[in-house]
Amino acid sequence: MTDKKTDMTEDERHQQKMAKHKAKVDAAIERAQEERGVVIVLTGNGKGKSSSGFGTVIRTLGHGFNAGLVQFIKGTWECGEANILSKLDNLQHEVMGSGFTWETQNKQRDQQAFDEVWPKAVAMLQNDDLRTVMFDEITYMLAYGHLEWNDLKEALENRPKHQNVILTGRGAPTALREYADTVTEMKMVKHAFKAGVKAQAGIEW
Ligand code: ATP
Ligand code: MG
Repeated sequence: MTDKKTDMTEDERHQQKMAKHKAKVDAAIERAQEERGVVIVLTGNGKGKSSSGFGTVIRTLGHGFNAGLVQFIKGTWECGEANILSKLDNLQHEVMGSGFTWETQNKQRDQQAFDEVWPKAVAMLQNDDLRTVMFDEITYMLAYGHLEWNDLKEALENRPKHQNVILTGRGAPTALREYADTVTEMKMVKHAFKAGVKAQAGIEW
C-alpha cells in the first residue's frame, strides 16, 4: 500500500522510522562511555524487587565474576534463589541472624543481629574481588533505625570503583534514591495475594 501524501509504502515508512530510532539509540550508546560500578535501588510496593536483584546476581555469577549477598530479613520460608546461590563457590552469602522476620518484635535483639552482620556487609563493600554485592531488604534497616544513612553512604563511597551494589526493599528514603545511579520503583498494579491466593513456594519465596 502506498500513502498518497508521502508516496511511501508501508515498508518504506517502517524502515524510515526504524532508522530514526536506531540513530537515537546509537547516539545514546556513544554518549555512555564512563566505566564504573553502579548503585541500583529496587524499591516500591509491587512484587519483583528481590527476585530482580537475585536475577542480576546470577547474571554477574554467570560471567564468572564473584558476588556477595547479604539478606537482612530472612523470611519465614527458605528463599529458593538463596538455596541455589549459596551452593556456588563464587558467591559470598550472609544472612542476618536472630531470625529477624517481618513480624519482628524485639528491637534490641534485632539491633544486636544487625551489629553482627553489618561488619561483614561492609567487608564485602571493601572487597575488590566482588563484582556485584546485593543487600536484600536493607531499606528496613534504615527505616527501623538499625542503620544510619551516613554509615551506608560512607561504605558505598569507599567501595572499589568497578563494584556494583544492589539495594532492595520498600520505602527507600529520598537520600538513597538521590545517591543511587539506577532506581526502579516497582508499582503494584495487582497482587494475587490480595484476591486471596495463598503465597506459594517458587513464586513468593
Ligand atoms: P519478590 O521476592 O517476589 O521479588 P519483593 O521483593 O518485591 O518480591 P517484598 O516486599 O520483599 O517483595 O515482599 C516479600 C514477599 O511478599 C514476597 O513473597 C512477595 O511475593 C510478596 N509480595 C510482594 N509484593 C506484594 C504485594 N503488593 N502484596 C502482597 N504480597 C506481596
Ligand atoms: Mg523482597
